[in-house]
Amino acid sequence: MRNGTATARDAVILGAGLSGLTTALALAEGGLTVSLVDQIDPRTAAGGQSDVRTTAISLSSRRLLTTLGAWDAVASDAEPILDIRVSDFESPFYLHYDHRAAGDEPMGHIVGNTALKASLLDRLAAHGDRVSIIAPGIAAALRRQAGGATLTLDDGQTLTAPVILGADGRRSRLRDLAGIRVTTTDYRQSSIVDTIAHERPHHNLAHERFLPGGPIALLPLRHQRSALVWTERTKVANHIAQLDDATFGAALQERVGDSLGRLTPLGPRQVYPLSLVVAEAYVAERVALVGDAAHAIHPIAGQGFNLGLRDVAALAEVLTDASRLGLDLGSATVLRDYQRRRRFDTMTLVAATDGLTRLFSNDIAPLRTVRGLGLGLVERIPAFKRAAIRHAMGTLGSLPRLLRGEPL
Ligand SMILES: Cc1cc2nc3c(=O)[nH]c(=O)nc-3n(C[C@H](O)[C@H](O)[C@H](O)COP(=O)(O)OP(=O)(O)OC[C@H]3O[C@@H](n4cnc5c(N)ncnc54)[C@H](O)[C@@H]3O)c2cc1C
Repeated sequence: MRNGTATARDAVILGAGLSGLTTALALAEGGLTVSLVDQIDPRTAAGGQSDVRTTAISLSSRRLLTTLGAWDAVASDAEPILDIRVSDFESPFYLHYDHRAAGDEPMGHIVGNTALKASLLDRLAAHGDRVSIIAPGIAAALRRQAGGATLTLDDGQTLTAPVILGADGRRSRLRDLAGIRVTTTDYRQSSIVDTIAHERPHHNLAHERFLPGGPIALLPLRHQRSALVWTERTKVANHIAQLDDATFGAALQERVGDSLGRLTPLGPRQVYPLSLVVAEAYVAERVALVGDAAHAIHPIAGQGFNLGLRDVAALAEVLTDASRLGLDLGSATVLRDYQRRRRFDTMTLVAATDGLTRLFSNDIAPLRTVRGLGLGLVERIPAFKRAAIRHAMGTLGSLPRLLRGEPL
């Protein structure tokens, strides 16, 4: 990987989080040359290892990562999710999703974000001739001209390419520079993440329990541990996160019960404030957005990065196909094709996660009744459950090649 040299390239990617790293890898695999810019070097501890979260990787996302050669390195530590149990704090009903209802494959795998970033970086290193990482570099200005766009970094360095891709997260600077507006909703909730050891095995069952302050998810990890994502009203979350381990474990146990036996928090603990951020367009003149820069959603369904990977798969397919046909990668036709492929899926998931959050994160009596009835009803209709499982696995609808496990 070259450092900071100004060379001819097919695309500049701003942001080397999970979405930017995967976009760079997919484009390089497709034969394109890219510069990947981040304010923090992803190869350093601060860039790669400060994220203690885990991610539920769906079946189609796993296929994409496998095709790009980034799955093998994380596979031995990835724990499969075979079943999911959804319950509400007051309702006697619960939903039980069994992976066998939709085939033999696990519904997903839980993977550490740090391990995934390391694996993506390793694969990128093998594409050193096609990918240059420029870090630290902060986007300062954007100029569009005939045939290309130029991104200027805060140190004055300029990067020109036919298209500039914004993978710079929910507060995307490129989105602002390109004049793409956003709709934002502050959920006034935050998620506490931690790792929990438990007395009894999880049998690869993921638990999601809805409480008035927000959902608590326990997701299976190796060695009789689970990843905790405990969502609460922000004020409460900030307080709970500061509790000593014994008090934190007891407070968690009180909320989720003792099906896993005694719960012991292992740390480290981090708090993530939650908001919904949806860009009004995926593309602008010579600019396209990917991942959280286009849509940052509530983690209630563990789908944010999976949605981002569906962007990556569509964008990489559109750009590599255009390149093979000798088309201008930043032309309005090419970028509109990307937007057309992504809008419906994104808006569906935005509406679903936002609706679920509003329905479940409260203690209003009529909504409690609707929730209870809803859980009971869905549990009894196999076709509903199958569709929900396929959606969680990311296998519904017509998929780009990478999500089907095919090369670009
Ligand atoms: C608690 C929690 C649990 C979650 N669990 C799941 C899950 O189980 N499954 C799932 O699919 N998703 C999950 N998600 C969502 C997932 O984590 C995000 O969708 C994903 O991390 C977004 O990655 P990204 O690369 O798009 O953005 P980011 O991770 O925000 O990366 C953006 C990058 O851009 C860089 N950057 C920003 N601005 C600039 C600038 N001006 N100049 C240069 N660089 C810049 C940043 O340094 C950063 O490296 C969860 C989210 C939360 C909060």
